[in-house]
Amino acid sequence: VAKREGGGGVRRFRREMGEDVAVRQRDKADLRDALSNDELVLHYQPIIDLASARTTHAEALVRWQRPGRGLLGPDRFIGLAEETGLIVPLGTHVLRTACGQAVHWQDRGHRLGVAVNVSPGQLSGEQFPHQVGELLGATGLEPGRLTVEVTESVWADETAMRVLMDVRELGVRVALDDFGTGYSSLNYLRRYPFDLVKIDKSFTDGLGEDRRTEGVVRCIIDLAAVLGARTVAEGVETPTQAHWLRDAGCDYLQGYLFGKPDLLENWRPELLTGSQPLLRA
Ligand code: C2E
Ligand code: MG
Ligand code: MG
Ligand code: MG
Repeated sequence: VAKREGGGGVRRFRREMGEDVAVRQRDKADLRDALSNDELVLHYQPIIDLASARTTHAEALVRWQRPGRGLLGPDRFIGLAEETGLIVPLGTHVLRTACGQAVHWQDRGHRLGVAVNVSPGQLSGEQFPHQVGELLGATGLEPGRLTVEVTESVWADETAMRVLMDVRELGVRVALDDFGTGYSSLNYLRRYPFDLVKIDKSFTDGLGEDRRTEGVVRCIIDLAAVLGARTVAEGVETPTQAHWLRDAGCDYLQGYLFGKPDLLENWRPELLTGSQPLLRA
């Protein structure tokens, strides 16, 4: 009996594996089509500069308007894109669209820059810096209006790191995303220059609640200052967190307190034009 059940288990296992492979193949084909069918949408989230209490940057966050499935967040498809190499054309699309938006702001006299997330798989050769250089040249976008966000996983990849530094040479800003959750060693941080440290939401969550978290965040802000980088706090949801971060000398705030990622046409007008009342005084 045990043997027969075992055999059934294996058969069931094989069938499920087969379905997984089939689902994966379809997702992959659909994602490739999504690129040509223009189903990828960029939402933008404001990043507030504490010195001026104004929005100075917007992070582009990709979504997939998948027919019959609704609007999918990046956690549902970026992993697949990375595994299949589709992250390269997907990343190109995001970069072009976001830079187009930044050019639009620049031409209208807005002070806004744009931040784009980049996976290590996009940094495997000189293609990326060339692409960025061409884009800047062709559009006249000021390089400092573009920020490239990478996670600490980039340290594990010597090539990606070199390519990233080439991009930075163009005058583009480099941000370390989700800082504190990954693989940074003080040795890497000391050796490679970058412009921004994004304090992960899991730290922001503890501000005003947990002394140890507060101590660590103070250290991150100090460390960034020593390294010549500015700090962005991610996932700011409460006025308590915002005030704590302001008083601790953080440079920029990002989070639902100011605005969720959304289509620009849905942004509250004050996000583009006014200062944030919460941060005045
Ligand atoms: P990320 O770059 O760290 O982006 C911040 C994430 O936190 C976003 O999730 C944003 O919606 C969410 N968030 C921001 N403020 C708050 C808040 O106050 N509360 C809460 N609960 N969440 C907040 P999202 O849009 O789902 O993106 C997830 C991740 O997907 C991003 O994390 C980024 O790593 C990746 N991603 C997004 N777009 C792209 C892209 O175009 N290319 C690549 N390679 N990765 C992308
Ligand atoms: Mg990011
Ligand atoms: Mg992040
Ligand atoms: Mg993240």
